[in-house]
Amino acid sequence: MNYQQVIESVFEAVAKENLRGKLADYIPELARVNHELFGVCLVDRQGNTYQYGDSQTAFSIQSISKAHTLTMVYSDLAADLWKRVNVEPSGNPFNNLAQLEYENGIPRNPFINSGALVTTDALMSMHAEPKEAIHQFIKGMTGGEDVSANKAVQESELECADRNRAVAHLLKSYNNLHNDVEELMEVYTYHCALEMNCEQLAKSFLYLANHGHCIYTNRQVLDRGLTKRINALMLTCGFYDEAGEFAFKVGLAGKSGVGGGVIAVLPGEFSIAVYSPELNEKGNPVKALRFLELLTTDMGISLF
Ligand code: GLN
Repeated sequence: MNYQQVIESVFEAVAKENLRGKLADYIPELARVNHELFGVCLVDRQGNTYQYGDSQTAFSIQSISKAHTLTMVYSDLAADLWKRVNVEPSGNPFNNLAQLEYENGIPRNPFINSGALVTTDALMSMHAEPKEAIHQFIKGMTGGEDVSANKAVQESELECADRNRAVAHLLKSYNNLHNDVEELMEVYTYHCALEMNCEQLAKSFLYLANHGHCIYTNRQVLDRGLTKRINALMLTCGFYDEAGEFAFKVGLAGKSGVGGGVIAVLPGEFSIAVYSPELNEKGNPVKALRFLELLTTDMGISLF
């Protein structure tokens, strides 16, 4: 398959549709980006990159970082993590509180905010310098790229993180959070505010397409079994209350963020990052989802 040709033709088809959404503005700093940006980068298992559009523009990875931190924690904790976080789709918005209360402080999955707060809490207990550990992890996974967090975005989120603070306190009341809530907020907003471009993002998840092996560090990040599980979780839980629709329309393992990025993985073949900042009402990037829908449905590239 000529991936370059394929991504260019799908990209042009989506660009013509003039699909619109809305920039995330509950973190005010995120509403300052150019709403027209649209980029894509596919990396195959050999590390060949195929890119088009604004693929070199860095953006806020937001919730996509939940998959990075999960990987870091999972490689050490494995099964123990699932005592603290469940593996079921939530069917609810990413920042939902009620479900956590009904389910006795065990988040539905690691890709909604409550689950990611538990994962970040576990990561803080594993590393004396958690922010630096995340930084080094991503640096290795992108082949040495020095990605950093956008301070203004992080501060903007910290200023309006009342809901995430509420989730964290609720977790603490159920004894499912061990670190200080403000310190947790600092680390959580740090990884959400990391900025990467499509090429860096696609590279950082190539290990999921490569049975857990990272070609940049030449390291087995997760064994095959754990890699399968992360891919399965991304397929079933990566898009909040739109996860079913993503599986239905796209059929890849994936994860979105309110910064406009989506990462998707076809195990055994490639990882692909797509960026378009305007979001639908579920908080998922409109053009990026449409791109992946056409890529998989019209081009026949999918898990199924
Ligand atoms: N930092 C954002 C939050 O916690 C991430 C949400 C997202 O990308 N869905 O609200």
